Amino acid sequence: MQTGKIGVTTENIFPIIKKFLYSDHEIFLREIISNAVDATQKLKAMASAGDFKGELGDLTIRVSADKKKKTITVSDSGVGMTSEEIDRYLNQIAFSSANDFLEKYKEQVNSIIGHFGLGFYSAFMVSDKVEVVSKSWDETEPAVKWSCDGSPEYTIEETTKERRGTDVILHLDKESKDFLEESKIEELLKKYCKFLPVEIAFGQEKEWKDNKYVETGKDKIINNTKPAWTLKPAELKDEDYMKFYRELYPVGDEPLFNIHLNVDYPFKLTGILYFPRIKSNIEIQKNKIQLYSNQVFVTDSVEGIVPEFLTLLHGVIDSPDIPLNVSRSYLQSDSNVKKISSHITKKVADRLSDIFKNNREEFEKKWDNLKLFIIYGIITEEKFYEKATKFALFKNTDDKYFTFEEYENLIKENQTDRNKSLVYLYTNNKTDQFTYIENAKNKGYDVLNLDGQLDVHLINHLETKFKDSRFVRVDSDVIDKLIPKNDEKKSKLSQDQQDDLRSVFNVRVKTKEIYSAVPETLDENDSPVILTQSEFMRRMKEMSHLGGGMNFYGELPDSFNLVVNVNHPLVIRISEDLNEKEGKRLQDNSKERERLKDEIAFMEKEHGKKKADEISQFEKDDLEKLRKELETVESARKEILEAYGSENKIVKQLIDLALLSNNMLRGEDLSTFVRRSLELL
Ligand code: ADP
Repeated sequence: MQTGKIGVTTENIFPIIKKFLYSDHEIFLREIISNAVDATQKLKAMASAGDFKGELGDLTIRVSADKKKKTITVSDSGVGMTSEEIDRYLNQIAFSSANDFLEKYKEQVNSIIGHFGLGFYSAFMVSDKVEVVSKSWDETEPAVKWSCDGSPEYTIEETTKERRGTDVILHLDKESKDFLEESKIEELLKKYCKFLPVEIAFGQEKEWKDNKYVETGKDKIINNTKPAWTLKPAELKDEDYMKFYRELYPVGDEPLFNIHLNVDYPFKLTGILYFPRIKSNIEIQKNKIQLYSNQVFVTDSVEGIVPEFLTLLHGVIDSPDIPLNVSRSYLQSDSNVKKISSHITKKVADRLSDIFKNNREEFEKKWDNLKLFIIYGIITEEKFYEKATKFALFKNTDDKYFTFEEYENLIKENQTDRNKSLVYLYTNNKTDQFTYIENAKNKGYDVLNLDGQLDVHLINHLETKFKDSRFVRVDSDVIDKLIPKNDEKKSKLSQDQQDDLRSVFNVRVKTKEIYSAVPETLDENDSPVILTQSEFMRRMKEMSHLGGGMNFYGELPDSFNLVVNVNHPLVIRISEDLNEKEGKRLQDNSKERERLKDEIAFMEKEHGKKKADEISQFEKDDLEKLRKELETVESARKEILEAYGSENKIVKQLIDLALLSNNMLRGEDLSTFVRRSLELL
């Protein structure tokens, strides 16, 4: 028997390792089984190269647990190790590389998401003793047994072992005895070993016989050694992709379509990605992609490895070129990871573009389920945007689909305003904004339906991309103002009469929303009063609700414009009625107002002729007095007008009608409106 000390510098690094990798203890099984798989693959490679001439025999890797002895054993029939190899690989390399690993990452131990790199060594996270019994493929070599109890001391001795291969026997420590449970082992095998390339047996198949389950004597194989992504696309049919999807995700909707990735150079990458149906709530759909390294499961969180929008996809990525034993922030800056990322982005865009080109009808049918994904990509990934502009679609209120370019051509002639800016009209609620959409259509305009979860962001994004263009929601102003053209309309009321209407219609005061009356010269066939909300303010508020950081706007009350159409016959009638009832007082007020204005203008002119220090205090006071008087006269006028407005049932009725057509008349206001309507009838 030979004894020795493992080549490590730290006296006893096992406890340190145990502590560092505490949360990831369960990876030990993956590591030990991966080694067994490697040893088996090596033997197969040697056999096909002619270096190994013996019988390969049954190559199944067997995992077993013995609750009494508190051991888990992993047995393979791979290349095995000679005593010299055990010394080299387990005593020197394995342990020293673990030591190097610790040295290297001492600083950032907390950010290490402990994967790989520890390999064989990770067995000590759960064991107080590990034994390795191995017989090399080289029949002239004797079998050897290596044993180590977690201190840097080991023993190595000759032993007897019939079959070629290696048994790794883990004597689990007290804290790790849960790992002896059959269900726990099965769970770990399903998680980490589901697609390993060599068959792995754990227990036996059972069958239902004489009212109970009995073992059949047949190995229960827990893995699929040839998962779909390792096959050639030409060998697979749609059903095969579907079947594999179900292997990955037993429940949930069927995906829309898939991409088979297969790259050899400049990095190795295989995988299958599926486009899921995404209706809403992208958060819960994220992070379903599983990452593998040579069929060994690594993680199901690919954040930081692929661009964020791609985390909405489902499926598998397998690459031995993604470094696995480092922190995520390091991953993001790794050049291989970057290349892989942009490759996947490109492939995804190309696939969408192909489907669009070859079968637009199909693409349009799937658009509603695809759009969140595509828009997410458009607003977060410039490279994707560039490609997506060719296949991304707009849907209008008639459910017709257009590419960005097609849509621009559709509206260019009609919806360019007098400043040569192209106006995209949109709605985010076809039902609520029905009247506005109708108004726009009556003018021959087209209205987009942008009611999706990310559409506010899309609009902001496209406005930075589309030249001389802007997006306005149909209800953000009266239609002629949304797309101002050169045909100025003549107003039937004088400027003074229009200004008076501003106060007459200023009667909604007790609400938490702010309403300001704005007289506008519109068509006499347009509505008498129209409720609008400024595009800018509304968008800022929406962004703040979506967490865009504009909290200041989020807290402001909603403010609306009550656009009063001064050419509408009812409005003209109100103006005439006002003149009949209050004409005398208003004329007197006008006269007084004009007189004061003239005097003020005169004095201001006189003062203008002098230098500032030549104007006496007396003169200054005089002017100030006149200004005060004018203010009083003006507020007296306002009072007359507001009093008139609040007595006038038609004024109230018109405002309520405007609110009603926006679904904004509720509660007491609504019942007052109904009562008033009956009275008026
Ligand atoms: P890695 O697998 O990353 O090389 P490990 O620490 O897991 O590092 O293993 C060290 C070495 O020990 C392996 O490279 C291999 O040569 C040898 N080894 C481990 N397990 C086995 C096994 N079951 N059969 C044959 N060789 C093995």
